[in-house]
Parts: sequence; structure tokens; C-alpha cells
Amino acid sequence: MTRVGVIGGGQLAWMMAKEAPAQGIILSVQTPSKDDSAVSLAQEVVWAPVDSVEGTEKLAQKCDVITFENEFVDLEGLQVLAKKGVCFRPSLQSLAPLLDKYEQRCFLASLGLPVPQFKNFEKIEDLESFGFPVVLKVRRHGYDGQGTIIVKSPDELDSALKVLGDVPFLIEEFIPFECELAVIAARGVDGTVTNYPVVETYQKNQVCRWTIAPANITIAQVEEVKAIAHKLLSALDYVGVMGIELFLTQDGRILVNETAPRTHNSGHYTLDGCRTSQFALQLRTVTGQAIGDLSFCKQGAVMVNLLGLDFPNPNYEERLTRIASIEDTFVHWYEKSESRPGRKMGHVTVLTNDHTVPKARAIAQHIEAIWYS
Ligand code: ADP
Repeated sequence: MTRVGVIGGGQLAWMMAKEAPAQGIILSVQTPSKDDSAVSLAQEVVWAPVDSVEGTEKLAQKCDVITFENEFVDLEGLQVLAKKGVCFRPSLQSLAPLLDKYEQRCFLASLGLPVPQFKNFEKIEDLESFGFPVVLKVRRHGYDGQGTIIVKSPDELDSALKVLGDVPFLIEEFIPFECELAVIAARGVDGTVTNYPVVETYQKNQVCRWTIAPANITIAQVEEVKAIAHKLLSALDYVGVMGIELFLTQDGRILVNETAPRTHNSGHYTLDGCRTSQFALQLRTVTGQAIGDLSFCKQGAVMVNLLGLDFPNPNYEERLTRIASIEDTFVHWYEKSESRPGRKMGHVTVLTNDHTVPKARAIAQHIEAIWYS
């Protein structure tokens, strides 16, 4: 029996916790919030913020290996535990270049991976070479578009700078992409790297709304993404699952937007769409097991996020019932005790035979019409 500790207790830890018993794994979590999804399934909960090193020390006493469901940790503090012999997978060394978006960009560029032009913001003149639109991103603790601002014209700059406040951020070239892509890759303790198919993702207001697996890109582009993933995970000596978000430009180039050192929303479709899900894979890799069969169950899959609605009586149950009645559909509701507009409350995956991107997009639009009407 292996005991895995997860720093974080949200829906990613919850979906991992569901997979744990099948692998004979006991899973505990560290979270300060009783509202978190994984609390109900975890063997034990250490009630502490995710950046509490004291909390992680307690978690480590109950576990053989510690992994992550978010990157908002105190890496320096955790080094002390690593020195005492706590096993982190991925290792703290492999996380170190990734947690700060500016440092992550520098690292990706140092490997020769294609990234948008970027610069650390130090003074207002740093913006001059970028023109408009331009993208400003907080260096740490951004997620779901929080901390990312697309500034369309000089008139919007002052208010954007006020919103960002007094935190370090980077400036980035705006990419008028053809579409956004993502891939879930993983590396085992033996150095084997693998990846699921490349997917197309669609973000509205910087929040992921749906993904289509597989994406309709050329074989050469698939190989390019695979090469990026393999280079990155090997260079980091990474162990575990990683989400990589990319832009496909209008002239067919691929650029890395960012990486998440954990399971990722763009891989939720694997739960029902593939023989081994990203959550099962995360557990397999961090506990030293073989990677397993990642192939599709059907030809493809469409995943649609179910975001909290901004209506007085959203009547979630009725909407979920209507969506669940669609053929080959799997609904996942995260059982969060509080709904907030835009909060990720659940997701739905539809498996597709006869998969084409236009058909898959039509499925996503149909589900969104039921959910948001
Ligand atoms: P987060 O970490 O909060 O998800 P991202 O950096 O992934 O932030 O940005 C969220 C979304 O904002 C992206 O998926 C994309 O739609 C848009 N975006 C981010 N950077 C750029 C860019 N340089 N050019 C165009 N759109 C961007």
C-alpha cells in the first residue's frame, strides 16, 4: 500500500482521490478549506494553507510521497523537508524554474523552445517595443486568467496597471492565434516520457470553456508538440504529469504559452475518454509504476467546463439532467459547497465516434447552450 499526499484539495485532488483505491493507494490532502472537493474522499486532511511548510511536514508524516495539485507552494520552505528526506514528485528542483511565469519563460527559452516575446516589467519604457495589444501577467499566483490582462490600447494601460497593483509582472507579445492547443505529458521515475494526444482548447475571458481531443493539426505539428514535451520533461528530470498550453499561430507556428506542473483542465477528457486517465497516470508515475495504456476509448472526446452561473436560482440539477441525457456523456460535478459565477463547478465529457473538429465544436456549443441559457 502506497500513501500519497497531495498539496491542495480542489477538484484535481478530488479526481485523483477517486482513482487511488483502484491502485491500492491511500491518498491524503493538505488544504485549509472545508469547502474543497477532495476533503470528502481523502483518507486524512491536514488543515493548512497549501504554502504552509508545517502543514506539509504533517502530511509527509502520513505519506510515502508528496505531489501537487497547484503550484502556490513555498518552494524554499519545502527544501528543508526535502533535506530531511521527504520525497516530492515532481522534485522541488524540477519545479523551481516553473513557479514564476517570468522564470518559466526564461527557462523555456533557454532550452530553445518557441515562446512569445516577453520581458520582465521594471519601468514603463519596457512596454515601448511591444505596441498594442500587449499582455501583462503577474509572475506568481495567477490562474484561470486571474492576473492576466490583455491591454488593447494605451488608454487601457493605467487601469490595467492599477488592477495588477504592486506585484511583479511580465510583459508579453499578444499572439493573434489561430487556436489554442494543449497537451498532457508525463515522465516516469525511469525517465520514460509519454503524452496524450494534442487537444484544442477554447478560452473565453481567459478561462477554459471546452477542449476537443484530438485537435485537427498536421502530423508535423503533433510531432513538434511531442518534441517540446519530451525536451522539457527530460531537461527538468521531471516525474509526474504536466499540462502544457500552446498557441498555434495563423502561419502554423507553435509557441509554448505556459506549463502547469500537475494534472490540468485540458486533460479532464482523459477521465472517460482514455484507458488511463491523467489522474491515474499522476498516481502511477509518482509511485513508480509503469505508465499504462493511454489510448482513446473511442475516436475522440469533447470536454466542456460547467462554470458557476450568475442567476439567482441557477437550477443546476435540471441542467445536469438534460446534459446527462446526451449519448456517451459523462458528467462530473465537483460537489463544492459554494457556487460563484465563473467558478469551475464541474465538467462534462462526450465521447465521439466519427470525430471531426466541426462536429466536436457543435457538441460543445450544444452543451453550452443548455448550461448557459
Ligand atoms: P492562466 O495561468 O491564468 O491560465 P494564461 O497565461 O494561460 O493564464 O492566459 C490565459 C489565457 O489568456 C490564454 O489561454 C489565452 O487565451 C490568453 N492569453 C494569454 N497570453 C496570451 C498572449 N500572449 N497572446 C494572446 N492571448 C493570450
